[in-house]
Amino acid sequence: MSTPTTEVHNATEQQVLPTGRAVTKQLIVQKFGGSSVSDAAGVKRVAKRVVDAQAAGNEVVVVVSAMGDTTDELLDLASQVTDSAPAREMDMLLSAGERISMALLAMAINKLGASAQSFTGSQAGMITDGIHGKARIIDVDPHRIRTALDKGNIAIVAGFQGMSRTTNEITTLGRGGSDTTAVALAAALEADVCEIYTDVDGIYTADPRVVPSAQKIDTISSEEMLELAASGAKILHLRCVEYARRFGVPLHVRSSFSQHEGTWVIPSAEDKITTQEGVALEQPIISGVAHDRSEAKVTVVGVPDIPGKAAAIFQVIADAHSNIDMIVQNVSTHGTGRTDISFTLPIVEGADALAALHAAHDQIGFETIEYNEQIGKLSLIGAGMRSHPGVSATFFKALSDAGININMISTSEIRISVVTHADLLDEAVRVIHNAFDLDSDSEATVYGGTGR
Ligand code: ADP
Ligand code: ASP
Ligand code: MG
Repeated sequence: MSTPTTEVHNATEQQVLPTGRAVTKQLIVQKFGGSSVSDAAGVKRVAKRVVDAQAAGNEVVVVVSAMGDTTDELLDLASQVTDSAPAREMDMLLSAGERISMALLAMAINKLGASAQSFTGSQAGMITDGIHGKARIIDVDPHRIRTALDKGNIAIVAGFQGMSRTTNEITTLGRGGSDTTAVALAAALEADVCEIYTDVDGIYTADPRVVPSAQKIDTISSEEMLELAASGAKILHLRCVEYARRFGVPLHVRSSFSQHEGTWVIPSAEDKITTQEGVALEQPIISGVAHDRSEAKVTVVGVPDIPGKAAAIFQVIADAHSNIDMIVQNVSTHGTGRTDISFTLPIVEGADALAALHAAHDQIGFETIEYNEQIGKLSLIGAGMRSHPGVSATFFKALSDAGININMISTSEIRISVVTHADLLDEAVRVIHNAFDLDSDSEATVYGGTGR
């Protein structure tokens, strides 16, 4: 399958190596996730790979995540100290994880004889809004990175963090945010490619930790990848995919533990996948199955069934900066004039959302609130769903044959999602993967990481 082309090629120029060989100089942004730099040996292995990329004649910018499960360990530590950490201090704590790996990687690269300099998010010009814990990038000013490259350095940037110009505070972008740092830098530097190095060989038809028979996908449209990421497939951070699509950054997801070609995320669904001979290939109907255990279900019971009540509930949730996912309003119980409204949101936002709802009790006038963290969400994604009838029928029949009860349903043009009991989620994923003939004969390799 041919490598997708892109219009972003400004950084490319001819260069003659000391050996006399002419090469096309590219600007590559490489992002290494926590499992790729989980210990000193991992840091050295990554350093070698980075140095090789530069030695091949490229300019290289590296974005690193915190080592191994450092971010989770820092979160655990904070929770042992307090159950109400100020958001500002939480960001000061969590941003330290990436500072450790960036400095160690720069040291390891210097030891190999190449020169590298590390930069925090704010030094690298990652400007965000001021919302701690889930800041959004609003500007990137990578002039220090550009200068470092011009001097022949490899620039190492701490992922997942930035700085707000309004508050002058350090911020973090939300879990998995280093992917977004990498793409934002790639866009600002007009890089030729953004390579996301992780602990599996690319994007699969399901999480290989849950479905060992999942198949590696060679190319996937950004539209489908957006749905997969939004449905909880943490192989890529959702905003990284949005950013890459908006700025036309070619994304290549691959393993830092192997030399295999990974998965290319191609800019849009309209772009036909073509072979080297230029023949358009039929897109598969289904691209994959995603699952998510990070959400909880809130049911606001006994809401007066009059206009404006749903608006009031969701305004309260929005003011608490919570992101709602699925929403279901039940039919009003006959004669009571009241209804129940259920929705899902990230577990980490549950406590704040509940507090905000209780504070607005008199304004909304509900009876009680139920809260359930023992849920899981399963999503089937495929651009071909638009034009292929029968996908829903197969989907719901497979779950019913397996005796899996469904709590909530939501759909988009190219996705069907259901909420099940958390304990049934893994089985549901395997059942659906199998029902759509996605299983391969061989087992996917998971090279590292704890899947945490
Ligand atoms: P990193 O530390 O490199 O950022 P992550 O743990 O964030 O790595 O993401 C990689 C993990 O994503 C894989 O180990 C795998 O368990 C999980 N994953 C979930 N869905 C998929 C999928 N569809 N394809 C590949 N990996 C997936
Ligand atoms: N270290 C952060 C996390 O664990 C960011 C990232 O890995 O992308 O979420
Ligand atoms: Mg990640």
